[in-house]
Amino acid sequence: MSSAPADDSPKSSNFLRQIVERDLEQGTYGGRRFAGSPGDAAHHAAAAIDPARIRTRFPPEPNGYLHIGHAKSITLNFGLASEYGGVCHMRFDDTNPEKEEQEYVDSILDAVQWLGFGWTANGVDHLYYASNYFDFMYRAAEALIGAGLAYVDEQTPDQMRANRGDFNTPGTASPFRDRTPEENLARFREMRDGKHADGAMVLRARIDMSSPNINLRDPAIYRIKHAEHHNTGNRWCIYPMYTFAHPIEDALEQITHSICTLEFEDQRPFYDWLLDTLANLGLLAQPRPHQYEFARLNVTYVITSKRKLKQLVDEKIVDGWDDPRMPTIVGLRRRGYTPEAIRLMCERAGTSKAGGWTDYASLDIALRDDLEGKAARAMAVLDPIRLTLSNWSEVFGAAPSEACLAPAHPQRPELGERRFGLGPQVWIERDDFAEVPPKGFFRLFPGNKVRLKYGVVVECTGCVKNDSGEIVEVLAAVVPDTRSGTPGADKVKVKGTITWVGVHDAAPVELRLYDRLFTEPQPDAGGRDFKASLNPASKRVVRGVVEPSLAGLAADTRVQFERHGYFVTDRVDHRADTPVFNRITGLKDTWAK
Ligand code: ATP
Ligand code: MG
Repeated sequence: MSSAPADDSPKSSNFLRQIVERDLEQGTYGGRRFAGSPGDAAHHAAAAIDPARIRTRFPPEPNGYLHIGHAKSITLNFGLASEYGGVCHMRFDDTNPEKEEQEYVDSILDAVQWLGFGWTANGVDHLYYASNYFDFMYRAAEALIGAGLAYVDEQTPDQMRANRGDFNTPGTASPFRDRTPEENLARFREMRDGKHADGAMVLRARIDMSSPNINLRDPAIYRIKHAEHHNTGNRWCIYPMYTFAHPIEDALEQITHSICTLEFEDQRPFYDWLLDTLANLGLLAQPRPHQYEFARLNVTYVITSKRKLKQLVDEKIVDGWDDPRMPTIVGLRRRGYTPEAIRLMCERAGTSKAGGWTDYASLDIALRDDLEGKAARAMAVLDPIRLTLSNWSEVFGAAPSEACLAPAHPQRPELGERRFGLGPQVWIERDDFAEVPPKGFFRLFPGNKVRLKYGVVVECTGCVKNDSGEIVEVLAAVVPDTRSGTPGADKVKVKGTITWVGVHDAAPVELRLYDRLFTEPQPDAGGRDFKASLNPASKRVVRGVVEPSLAGLAADTRVQFERHGYFVTDRVDHRADTPVFNRITGLKDTWAK
């Protein structure tokens, strides 16, 4: 029901798919109602059975840009919903008053849509803000107080910490733990009414101070914070704690499967306690949501800590959040990675309870798998040196150039052909010539023959040097009757074929040659200083030339430069008259050991 991209590849089963399938089979959520919008038990009670078979959600805090790890969570939540006839809600977890910004909200929505997902189902926009649930959360807190299941604690933060005990020692009850509900309610309302300073007291759930799970030792559920909230302004000076807010958000939205990363596993007993308690008090609908945890995605050669990514931006180590070397979604997008490749990589990384590292190369492999059949081919010279064909007029007479044809894609004739010219001077790669060839070198060196791809066979005759002894021009002679595509063209055998662009019709371009930002597979593991392993060659900007078929390309267009790899016209800086290409990745992994 939710809009989602077509299947990328066969899906392998994982424990979450098994849980969803089990729930569907057993009808766990069969009688669940949904009123079309989030709400309490009464709101949903009168509604029809939910046509969505499952509901999941993606709940980012709008406090930064999304990164490759979030892409895993997005593909998982939106993916499961679309596979099983469900809906995935887009929810901003904006219960923390100080950190949120509209810039992040906008970029998160944009990232999710760009990855190919949507939150509209049957004309209903399932885009929610947790801060819209503050009224209900407050009501739930009062209900817990009324039931003797929450109390206002006036211990200092230090006392509370000391009395919580630890793994070996049970906690000690607060002297405020046995106040009456009336006293607690009065106190809590004073908190709400701004009568107390930040940190003076908190509302705690009253559960079990000797629970082996420390999260059940009367966790704090509301705190005082005199701060303006981007959505609710100054209406509140108390705010719910994340562990209290999140389960309630899920329940109001009638989420069935609340999927999060493993660090929340210890919170699950409180999640269950809270939702069961509020359902029993008649506040929340049943059946209630359940939480499931999976191991977060860790990718080698990148860092995903928001704080550290911000440091890269603030210290100008990269050129912004969308720098093509950043593992942010905006960065990956600008680099040229496709949504299909990112989804494919996330699917192949799998979903399990066991953590581990996914090799960055798997993203490049997914990109090649995606673009191999799609991207048009073209010739480009990244480090040009002039090759002069000294016998041009003897072979071709007065013709200034010879028209050449090449398929836009070798396996897809329907994509048509590219045209370019072979002239007496062409650009070739500097390292396709060697005065003294190293062993196994089959390209240009004096006396050797190579084919200029789609052109002719040439025999190298030497080179020209400047006063400092640097090679500035390579010389060769055309071997007659070797035009590609003409009968007998291959009777002259060569061991090397090189790419080239005619000097007369070459389009000059800026090429941004990106590589990994770090040289260490785990740049910040074990508290290591990630800045110590920055790759000094992660960005090189060079001037090169491309064949004329690429003139006038739109921004954000992907091509394969033959022999070189996949490139994209930069979505920010590229102009038809001043082309800028980013290297996405090479044709094979140069990092494999
Ligand atoms: P970070 O740790 O990078 O600051 P976060 O968890 O604080 O990320 P949220 O905005 O809360 O960021 O994340 C939204 C969702 O994305 C959460 O459900 C979170 O579990 C999930 N998520 C974040 N990082 C990863 C990751 N590396 N792999 C899988 N899911 C992730
Ligand atoms: Mg978080």
